[in-house]
Amino acid sequence: MDSCVCAALAARDYEAAALHVSYGQRTETRECQAFSAICDRLGITQRLIVRNEALLQIGGSALTDNQLVVPEASDVIGSAIPITYVPFRNAHFLAVAVSWAEVIGAKKIFIGAVEQDSSGYPDCRPAYYEAFNQVIRTGTAAGDIEIATPLIHLRKAEIVRLGLELGAPFDLTWSCYVRQDRACGTCESCALRLRAFEAAGVRDPVLYSSAVSIHS
Ligand SMILES: [Zn+2]
Repeated sequence: MDSCVCAALAARDYEAAALHVSYGQRTETRECQAFSAICDRLGITQRLIVRNEALLQIGGSALTDNQLVVPEASDVIGSAIPITYVPFRNAHFLAVAVSWAEVIGAKKIFIGAVEQDSSGYPDCRPAYYEAFNQVIRTGTAAGDIEIATPLIHLRKAEIVRLGLELGAPFDLTWSCYVRQDRACGTCESCALRLRAFEAAGVRDPVLYSSAVSIHS
């Protein structure tokens, strides 16, 4: 949902291109389907879909290693970095995005990182993106590409409201870490999402396997 709102913002203000990275996560097929549907709805025609085999082979996350169990939200939210953290994942995404931006002439890279109301992943902190922007300035041909993190300081409910204002297609998004048919409603990603829609006072259009709601 964060990526979708970010894409809607980018498509409103720029001629947007969209990148999707599969990395062996449990729901990669469903997420890629969501990516294409969202691009269609937002009118984004320039797309890049890639697969990152390194993150899958490295593992170390419950999202990419089927030997590990994706925990229930109640066991992880508010605790240390959860086992669903994919080690240094966003750097892989950004590296692909920056390379592509250099080739197609894009100057801004939008990423839907959120610091609050998130799982506490270290690659969602503002300082991380400031540092990454320095790397881009130093390590690209023209040094004029910049990462934008328009959602990073927003609460999750504010992201829902912003998405509704923008007409972001929440009905096409996929957040669940576990299932691809209906969202499980109990993993941390589902829980954060359900809580956000509840706080915003609107119904989440995605189908859940059970009517679950986590109260903060
Ligand atoms: Zn779920």
